[in-house]
Amino acid sequence: MRVLLINPQFPESFWSFQWAFEKILPPKRTVNPPLGLATVAALCPPDWEVQIVDENVEPIPPEPRADIVGVCGMGVQYRRQKELLAYYRSRGYYTVAGGSFASLCPERYADVADTVVAGEAEYIWPAFCEDFRKGRPHPLYRETGIVRLEDSPTPRFDLLRLDRYQTVTLQFSRGCPYQCEFCDIIVMFGRKPRTKSPQQIGRELDLLRKAGVRNVFFVDDNLIGHKAKAKELLRYLIDYQRRHRYRFQFGTEASLNLAQDDELLALFRAAGFQWVFIGIESPDEESLKETKKYQNVGQDILSSLRKIYAHGLEVYAGFIVGFDHDTERTFDLQYRFIRESGIQAAMIGLLTAVPRTPLYERLRREGRLRPDVDDSDNTKLSTNVVPLRMDYRVMIEKYRELYIRLLEDENIAYRIRQRLRHMRRPVGGRPESLGRQCLLFLRFLRHGVIPGGPRRWWHVLRSLPWTRPRQVPQAIQDWIVGLSMRDYVRRHFHTEAQTHTLLQQLQAWRDRIMETARRWGADLRVEVDSEVRALRITLRSLQNRRQVVRLSRQIRRFLKETPASLVLQLPDVGFMPHLLRRLEGWGGRITVDPSGL
Ligand code: SF4
Repeated sequence: MRVLLINPQFPESFWSFQWAFEKILPPKRTVNPPLGLATVAALCPPDWEVQIVDENVEPIPPEPRADIVGVCGMGVQYRRQKELLAYYRSRGYYTVAGGSFASLCPERYADVADTVVAGEAEYIWPAFCEDFRKGRPHPLYRETGIVRLEDSPTPRFDLLRLDRYQTVTLQFSRGCPYQCEFCDIIVMFGRKPRTKSPQQIGRELDLLRKAGVRNVFFVDDNLIGHKAKAKELLRYLIDYQRRHRYRFQFGTEASLNLAQDDELLALFRAAGFQWVFIGIESPDEESLKETKKYQNVGQDILSSLRKIYAHGLEVYAGFIVGFDHDTERTFDLQYRFIRESGIQAAMIGLLTAVPRTPLYERLRREGRLRPDVDDSDNTKLSTNVVPLRMDYRVMIEKYRELYIRLLEDENIAYRIRQRLRHMRRPVGGRPESLGRQCLLFLRFLRHGVIPGGPRRWWHVLRSLPWTRPRQVPQAIQDWIVGLSMRDYVRRHFHTEAQTHTLLQQLQAWRDRIMETARRWGADLRVEVDSEVRALRITLRSLQNRRQVVRLSRQIRRFLKETPASLVLQLPDVGFMPHLLRRLEGWGGRITVDPSGL
């Protein structure tokens, strides 16, 4: 039996750090590998042949040798996940949908998947495999009980192209004890955290160590959801790191009450954790109470952050605007808070109601959901929530302005200085070889500093900690994060006038590509897709490699000179792999429309 497991392409978002992967970090292609698929692969019967394809780092196979094609996905991948399922099903493959969005809304896959696997896979995936082997698979497998993570197998890391990811993921626990109203994690995994044993994590680290991995991200919903278990793990990791000369740099997600436990902070530091993602959401207590984020209430959040910095942990944070208590004033409050906090990776999102969450149910009852908006993707300049105290259009405009202000050179530099003022150097070795660090630095100068002109040079120089040279790489990393986010805003957060100009640019490129293609005898159609602000190229045929080379050059020029994306329809399977290979590295900016394959 042969199984192909696919992780669909993510739509581009702040999380893609597309600029960094294009300009600074090659050969890395994206942030994290699909850990869920590596776990599902390990749950397949040992005599089955399993392949994992992550569309974010490699092209999907148009005609795979497979009996089952499984496609996973989070909410943001839903559109692409459905496209791929529909394509493979139309080709006669048995299709299976899984992942977090299929767990929340299995009914939405009825027309594209033969089977939906909803919920944690540890028990239901082997049940599906058994039924499939007997020729009697069911349309839905839903986990309704409690999965013990001690039963979770060691993920098949050997099936992933680990060298293409900036950070490799592990998971110690699932579930979170808190009750934030917008959160879908507690809907899926519950409020009682469950954990693996430290020895299981040790076995996974052994594999990653042998594979040459250095950066590891614990993708737990909240690593400190069960503090006693978290401390047990951290003590184990300290011992592991000492035995292996601090081989790994760790990062994770945790709640802000981390700052109130000195022992926990000291253990994080000693274990070699370098960063932590925290959901801060809002500096406004009323909004925090409204959304039931009580763990952030009743404390001076800035002081908490500084205490975390003092233990050598950098903070990445999530913020939300659009709560019922939020007004136009909130944007200024968020701006001042983020500036003072020194958080560079400040992921601000518009409040979005994810199906099945308490927020979604409340807003549905109140008639405040916008039905015309995609509720599976919260990375766009729109939301499915009707705000209470602001006009929707004003909110969107203020949101756009907030990002633009925060990502000015002066503000990137100011936040670096703010953070480094309180930051202690983390424990642990360097993540990259010296040679690679030098290469990254030169690329940063070439693509990040020099094109910004004298003002940026001045801000970069002012932000570097000249008296603490060991912290210079951290400052540069913050610049890379800031410039990546700015590049995303520049290409995606358009006013109406900017959208109009972009569409004109796209039309000019459409004519240019059609004209040149005609000259080399290539049969293609080029259209402007104004909905997704992309150019859509349909290739009727590509006759030789020369045409592939010419077209790929033209496309690369288009992507360099415009902020737009590209959709490719490639019915000519013969030369398609050559073309896609030549266009690798553009991440979410190139999408292959499978209906044309
Ligand atoms: S702390 Fe995070 S994971 Fe826990 S309920 Fe709140 S949003 Fe969800």
